[in-house]
Amino acid sequence: MPEPLAPDVLLDLDRRHVWHPYGPMPGRQEPLVVASASGVRLRLATPAEGRSELVDGMSSWWSAIHGYRHPVLDRAARDQLDRMSHVMFGGLTHEPAVRLAARLVEITPEPLRHVFLADSGSVSVEVALKMCLQYWRSLGRPEKHRLLTWRGGYHGDTWQPMSVCDPDGGMHHLWSGVLARQVFADAPPPGFDAEPDPAYAARLRELIGRHAHELAAVVVEPVVQGAGGMSFHSPGYLRVLREACDEHDVLLVFDEIATGFGRTGRLFAAEHAGVAPDVMCVGKALTGGYLTMAAALCTARVAEGISRGEVPVLAHGPTFMGNPLAAAVASASVDLLLGQDWEREVKRVEAGLREGLAAAAGLPGVRDVRVLGAIGVVQLDHEVDVPAATRAAVRAGVWLRPFRDLIYTMPPYVTDDADLAAVCRAVLAAATAG
Ligand SMILES: *Cc1c(COP(=O)(O)O)cnc(C)c1O
Repeated sequence: MPEPLAPDVLLDLDRRHVWHPYGPMPGRQEPLVVASASGVRLRLATPAEGRSELVDGMSSWWSAIHGYRHPVLDRAARDQLDRMSHVMFGGLTHEPAVRLAARLVEITPEPLRHVFLADSGSVSVEVALKMCLQYWRSLGRPEKHRLLTWRGGYHGDTWQPMSVCDPDGGMHHLWSGVLARQVFADAPPPGFDAEPDPAYAARLRELIGRHAHELAAVVVEPVVQGAGGMSFHSPGYLRVLREACDEHDVLLVFDEIATGFGRTGRLFAAEHAGVAPDVMCVGKALTGGYLTMAAALCTARVAEGISRGEVPVLAHGPTFMGNPLAAAVASASVDLLLGQDWEREVKRVEAGLREGLAAAAGLPGVRDVRVLGAIGVVQLDHEVDVPAATRAAVRAGVWLRPFRDLIYTMPPYVTDDADLAAVCRAVLAAATAG
């Protein structure tokens, strides 16, 4: 093992050489250095605001649903390490990937039957969209190559996913003329419990019908739009999309990368609506936050359509496709989740967030407070002062990462009631400070 870097040396090298998400170069804000993590706690290399440990309110961006260093997942990784960390997937196969794919088919909506194991969420969206475009090409309808989505979405940072991210919140203005031009509907009216608005539903149907001749697919995040604005909508709109897509011969893609594996209170958000997509992406919590892996699942119809084409193969094959280490941990994570009363745990977290965040509604500058499953959101009426809000949360002993006008939390499902209360107090403190 090399000597550990002194904290100031580490931070200096970090600032000079290392890109961070959405970061400038050299870096401007000083990141906190995490030395280790276990359960729901991040341990800092150097104390910040008097804290050497922080309760994690972010699940490392939706992924660490069981917390850190879970003994079951640690063991799965170690056992697999003793066999092999990786082997190419072209011409070879192995038990971890096969077991995981079969398990995903078993637990996702019924018609989804075929699995492409990708190495990140964005790549799984690329693959999902490639499946849809190639499906129509194979059927002799190459003009069906555009995509329709609603505003306020987020589907990743590579090119095709970027083209269906929210055109205002995303980086569209920077890339106008470069990004594929897709068809945008208005964002779905907010409110998980709100009655679907018939006028909005009619506009959605009309737009899909009008563009059907050129549309390969409609792609949306079901029920919760995450990084595009943390907003919730009625599952009724997903039924509208399903009906309109069926009526007009357009494929339907659900991006469940953030919502999958119980986060919204159902195993997959599509279950709130009782509809199944033609193609579905999962990622983030797939490996319990241990390793990078995602998947695009499709129906027999989509797979058979592609296989009847002039080029009867799906031309995609990442180097680390089906990575055995990630697949083994993913299967262990899914088993761990389904082997417990996870619905009760998510309901418990939901109740804790509702109770703990209720007081935010009375704070000055707060526009909305919303909770669904293990997701809590406080929306301000102004841009968050991110450094100030983050400092306030750290002072309260909690790690949060606000963005835009949003201070939000999606804690690990294993967060106990006392830590959950601390997370809520930190959200309130951040909302006041930011
Ligand atoms: C995070 C996310 C992605 C992108 O996944 P990466 O693993 O970051 O590439 C795509 N879609 C949704 C809904 C996401 O939340």
